[in-house]
Amino acid sequence: MKILVINCGSSSLKFQLIDSDTEAVIGKGLCERIGIEGSKISFTPAGKDKITKETPMPDHNEAIRLVIEAITDPVNGVAQLSEIGAVGHRIVHGGENFTSSVVINDEVIKAIEEVSDLAPLHNPANLIGIRACQKAMPNVPMVAVFDTAFHQTMPEEAYLYGLPYSYYEKYKIRRYGFHGTSHSYVSKRVAEIMGKDYDSLKTIVCHLGNGASVSAVKNGKCVDTSMGLTPLEGLIMGTRSGDIDPSVIDFIEQKEGIDTKAVMNILNKKSGVFGLSDDLSSDFRDLEAGYNAGNKGAIRAVDAFCYKVAKYIGSYVAAMNGVDTICFTAGIGENTSFVREKVLAYLGYLGITIDKEANKVHGEEKLISTADSKVKVYVVPTNEELAIARDTYALCK
Ligand code: ADP
Repeated sequence: MKILVINCGSSSLKFQLIDSDTEAVIGKGLCERIGIEGSKISFTPAGKDKITKETPMPDHNEAIRLVIEAITDPVNGVAQLSEIGAVGHRIVHGGENFTSSVVINDEVIKAIEEVSDLAPLHNPANLIGIRACQKAMPNVPMVAVFDTAFHQTMPEEAYLYGLPYSYYEKYKIRRYGFHGTSHSYVSKRVAEIMGKDYDSLKTIVCHLGNGASVSAVKNGKCVDTSMGLTPLEGLIMGTRSGDIDPSVIDFIEQKEGIDTKAVMNILNKKSGVFGLSDDLSSDFRDLEAGYNAGNKGAIRAVDAFCYKVAKYIGSYVAAMNGVDTICFTAGIGENTSFVREKVLAYLGYLGITIDKEANKVHGEEKLISTADSKVKVYVVPTNEELAIARDTYALCK
């Protein structure tokens, strides 16, 4: 069966067509600037060059029509419409309603709508993507795969904030966690690589991309993760602050004479390594170059980023009373050896020794700790699209 994987944002839409038998990507692409002037679609059929077309895309219905047109194009297309057996949608927030992926029906759509206030930028866009696909492919089954679902196994002590309990009861204010598809994929994959039973391992996954989070997975279940009610909490990220004292918000409001909305915008878009580096960059390629050139802002930002990752790892060792393996994944985790080295340098007390030669790896599965290291450290490239396709196939085959 061919599975179409859709990751729909408010103005962009990423897609991949995956063969469920071989798990190969048959084609993939991106619609950009949906509803904005200058929209374009790019499509890369497997083994061929990327094709980019600038074309008006007033809404997501048109974007989906263009996706189908690209996939089924007589010259550069990769499949017939009738060959698409199911569609898997990435949904950011499932609240407490969803602990695993589900086949989409009216009830599921209603439940996703109900938790939209928890992810006002993402869930409505995800729903638009679902509706556009339903319109274009009315008889094709669709599956919702939630970023939050994997973390629903967290115990109460890990997901509750120290707030009046009534806020949890009334508004479901709690830690949810995100990147769940990635944390799930990587923690399962490392068990396979190690030849160990998933249910027997204590694993810490560091998903370090533009958005970044750490999770603790014990005996096959997520027991803690660094993102919270929203993806703002936890690590210092590309442009997001991560953990701060909540009083900082009121303090900035007073000092700068701005409102909460403006401060939240700063915490989401102007902070993180971007803010710490004095607006040098949010991209670790630039920060690494700056670091090596002795740029003070880059050094400050990278040092703070790595320190925070190490602190979270340490806290999850405590939460699980041990750790067997630590995995690095996503853009920074997979590619930036100096960040991995800096993080691991804090963890000598765990009996971790890094294999400097192995740690030069970029974007490949690799053991980067030495043979005698007490904790095994791996680079495991994430593959959220494949994980979505697998869940979709499992529910629709
Ligand atoms: P997201 O999906 O959250 O946008 P990614 O997982 O794609 O994030 O990671 C993007 C980040 O990864 C970039 O901002 C950059 O900092 C880092 N990155 C990607 N490729 C490399 C590379 N080759 N070397 C160093 N850093 C990289």
